[in-house]
Amino acid sequence: MSASRVAKADGSDALELRMHIAGEWVDAADGATFETVSPATGEVLAVLPRAGREDARVAVEAAGHARGRVAATSAFERAELCHAVADILNARAGDLGRELSLEQGKPYREAVDELAFAAELFRDAGENVKRLDTGIIPSIDPGKRILTIRQPHGVVAVITPWNYPIGIPSEYLSAALAAGNCVVWKPAPTTSMIAVRLTECLLQAGVWEGALNLVFGEADVGEEIVFNPGTHAVGFTGSSAAGNLVARSAGAKPMLLELGGNGPTIILDDADLELAIEGTAFGCFSNAGQICQSSERILVGPKVHDAVLEGLVRNAESIRLGHPLEETTTMGPLNNEGVAAKTEEHIGDAVERGAAVVTGGGRAEGLPTSLYHLPTVIDGVTADSLFNREETFGPVAPLIAVRNADEAIEVANACNLGLCGSVYTSSLRHAFYCSERLECGVVNVNETPAYWDGRTPFGGYSGKASGVGRLGGMATIHSLTQLKSIVLDIEHVRG
Ligand code: NAP
Repeated sequence: MSASRVAKADGSDALELRMHIAGEWVDAADGATFETVSPATGEVLAVLPRAGREDARVAVEAAGHARGRVAATSAFERAELCHAVADILNARAGDLGRELSLEQGKPYREAVDELAFAAELFRDAGENVKRLDTGIIPSIDPGKRILTIRQPHGVVAVITPWNYPIGIPSEYLSAALAAGNCVVWKPAPTTSMIAVRLTECLLQAGVWEGALNLVFGEADVGEEIVFNPGTHAVGFTGSSAAGNLVARSAGAKPMLLELGGNGPTIILDDADLELAIEGTAFGCFSNAGQICQSSERILVGPKVHDAVLEGLVRNAESIRLGHPLEETTTMGPLNNEGVAAKTEEHIGDAVERGAAVVTGGGRAEGLPTSLYHLPTVIDGVTADSLFNREETFGPVAPLIAVRNADEAIEVANACNLGLCGSVYTSSLRHAFYCSERLECGVVNVNETPAYWDGRTPFGGYSGKASGVGRLGGMATIHSLTQLKSIVLDIEHVRG
């Protein structure tokens, strides 16, 4: 059983949830627990087991036992599982959307969109794995044939953040299971309740016993599942700092690291302004700015600066900040104190360097928790500010004035993060000029940097701190499988 109710000291009761290890819903071996608290209301949503390293080891062992059985299933059987998961996610979108909103903080509509996106990831992974083909390579020796096959890695350690707590895990779980791997998954603690719900959907769809193991806990648990020799590959999405530690723990294991971004949005003087303002505002304020692909800094040309500023202020002031389950709400609270404090720090730093807050600028008052942050537009941000050097991850549109495309590219590339960027221009020449020079893994032209269809190869630019490897459609299947070459000497085969 995944859940029961537990009495609290104040006489109320809370949902008690469990981890899923070796086909069973279980508590931590030492009985330790933690609580997940709604950023929207401050109420305790659930009490969950806090795993230690020993629990993590048991989970890895369980996945190891299931590994051979899962790898032996056919691609078509696995595709069927993926479609069943997608059907369940679609059917449960209403209930899960509410829980996702309450635990993560995003408005209900965004939560339901995330569930639909996750369902699509499972459907795509199922279809992709059925079409996964490999090559036959000409041999220099006429007596030999060389063929390649793709095989699962074995057990994949999956570690995920809290900003898309259904969508991001689904990127890994869909492709890992579709490709015949087993998984040990550690979600971010603040979104553990919704991780239980996703696990329930997979179990209901018939995932093989031991193939999906869910462990809660903190960095030590993550470190254990990454380092443990019983895991054979790693899928990690999170901050650049944690990603570097994960890379060290993983050693030479195959790794997919999807890390932080500081999305430059370049708006050139020849841009379609309506389009640019709408896309940029979406990139700044959607999910309260907690997107690795956010419009983190807006590099704007001299002729369009004032119009862009005015448009962004208008957009920010039309946002309805409030409880994520209220129908009129278009922005909810930030997920946790760390991200709220960092947003404040970046605004303070920019102001100290001479920037001006045009609207917003701090936390909202009179709401149930201190995590509601006003949508903020800040002008006159300098290239040496924290906004330009680090990821903010809050609902802020910081404008940096640039003279032309060359200066925009120079400012954008000065940051050591390089995930997604965007360019608004009506010139095809400018579009290619900027796209080819921006040091980002993905560049969207006349589209917000936050646009991703789940199928386009996605990841960090080499040499930057935004990660290694590629997610997205067939790219995820490739990342979560290994290529094996079989060299056949047909002169010595009988028959
Ligand atoms: P985080 O602090 O790095 O945590 C991510 C996950 O890693 C959590 O489950 C965390 O557990 C765990 N973790 C932390 N240190 C670890 C270690 N040494 N070994 C193993 N696991 C460890 O990131 P976050 O604050 O949850 O998420 C926000 C970050 O994720 C942002 O930087 C954002 O840009 C990035 N992100 C990137 C993408 C992408 O696709 N590139 C997508 C979404 C988000 P604890 O919380 O218990 O420490």
